[in-house]
Amino acid sequence: MDHREILEEIDTCLKTAIGHGLGSKGLIFPVDPITVEDEELRAICNRFATIFDMINESYQYSERLARGDLSAKSSRNNIFSMPLKGLQASLAHMTWQARQVAEGDLNQQVHFLGEFSYSFNCMILSLREKEIIKQRLKQITDVLGEGVLLVDSDGKIIFANPEAMRLLGYSFDEIEGCLIHEVIHKQQPDGTLYNSGENPFFNAIVSGNDYNNDDGVFTCKSGLLMPISFACRAVFKNETRDGAVIAFRDITVQKKNLQSLEGINELLEKQASTDALTGIFNRMKFNQTLTSEIKRAKRYRVALSLILFDIDHFKQVNDSYGHLSGDTVLKHLARLVASNLREIDIFARWGGEEFVIQAPETSLESAIKLAEKLRSKIENYVFPAPKKITVSFGVATFRSSDNDITLVNRADEALYRAKEGGRNQVVSHA
Ligand code: GH3
Ligand code: MG
Ligand code: MG
Repeated sequence: MDHREILEEIDTCLKTAIGHGLGSKGLIFPVDPITVEDEELRAICNRFATIFDMINESYQYSERLARGDLSAKSSRNNIFSMPLKGLQASLAHMTWQARQVAEGDLNQQVHFLGEFSYSFNCMILSLREKEIIKQRLKQITDVLGEGVLLVDSDGKIIFANPEAMRLLGYSFDEIEGCLIHEVIHKQQPDGTLYNSGENPFFNAIVSGNDYNNDDGVFTCKSGLLMPISFACRAVFKNETRDGAVIAFRDITVQKKNLQSLEGINELLEKQASTDALTGIFNRMKFNQTLTSEIKRAKRYRVALSLILFDIDHFKQVNDSYGHLSGDTVLKHLARLVASNLREIDIFARWGGEEFVIQAPETSLESAIKLAEKLRSKIENYVFPAPKKITVSFGVATFRSSDNDITLVNRADEALYRAKEGGRNQVVSHA
């Protein structure tokens, strides 16, 4: 073949490639150099054949790279592949960097690939900002004195801050993914379990409604119920409800304080209505109950009687045995009388050595009998010193026209007459 024929063959081959592409076989050098006799021409053909091979190899190499195959290889001396090799090395490095970012290393920066580097670095910055916000939120929930739980829209726990775990006694692993209404909020304050579907907390989470409760309970890991106050709010992701956040506080101490406050109030109330020496009701308490008993007697037309009694010659007791002995007599007397009364009777110290009994639903006759029984018990009782004392009784019963003053006055008049009549006796006011 002479050089003209060779050029024509090459030209045909190139025309096909330009017109139809390289195809799967690539560029095939159309002349077998062995068939070329002229030595110089044969050397030229050999160089052309080498260039054709390089083009083919480079084409396949770039094709594999274009498909994302970063393991593609090309011969070291392939001059067409060289720029692509630089790109391949950059892409491999960036792939590694992306993996580092995915594993949380936000210090990566890309310094090649122009516009792409800019976008990649912007992405890193934005991730860093998000990470900072996340860290700040974590710091906030870490130091919060309130327990914070995050649940998804099914009620599954997806976050708990340290205080929540401390209060509940769980580690996060133990409650992560658990349904909050099955683990932590399953019982009512009295301990009864919520019926399925009736748990107000779960319903609030599902419906997205705010839910606050200052008198709730959470079940701790120990099984103990912890009185809590909590607030539950829906959380949103792209304007769609995505679950709820719950902030809660242990209110055991407040509850206890409230209970002891109630105890103190009860004690104060008791003290305010009790006579310090004898422990029975005082006059103030007596007056309060008399007013309400008179109302009841009027409304329901039931009987109500009063027995007023006073120790005979008590001044002599003090004079002869001393004031302390007098006090002891008062205490014994109060105990003796109280032990002979019904639960519903109100027994109070009227003042000094004078006492009063309010006997609801008791007729005059019954009240006289009761007074007589008490008089006799006292007369026969052996006191420490003096051994014997007697008491005079005045009895009156409620009339529909009575108020507390008129009723007491009639009992007082009867008592006065008992004293006048010689003491140690029961006198009634008809
Ligand atoms: P009478 O039979 O007429 O009731 O005579 P009396 O001596 O009981 O009556 P008087 O009213 O003269 O005296 C009542 C006495 O009761 C005077 C007072 O010192 C005494 N007294 C009142 N309260 C107490 C008390 O809390 N302790 C003691 N020890 N004595 C009291
Ligand atoms: Mg007296
Ligand atoms: Mg008196």
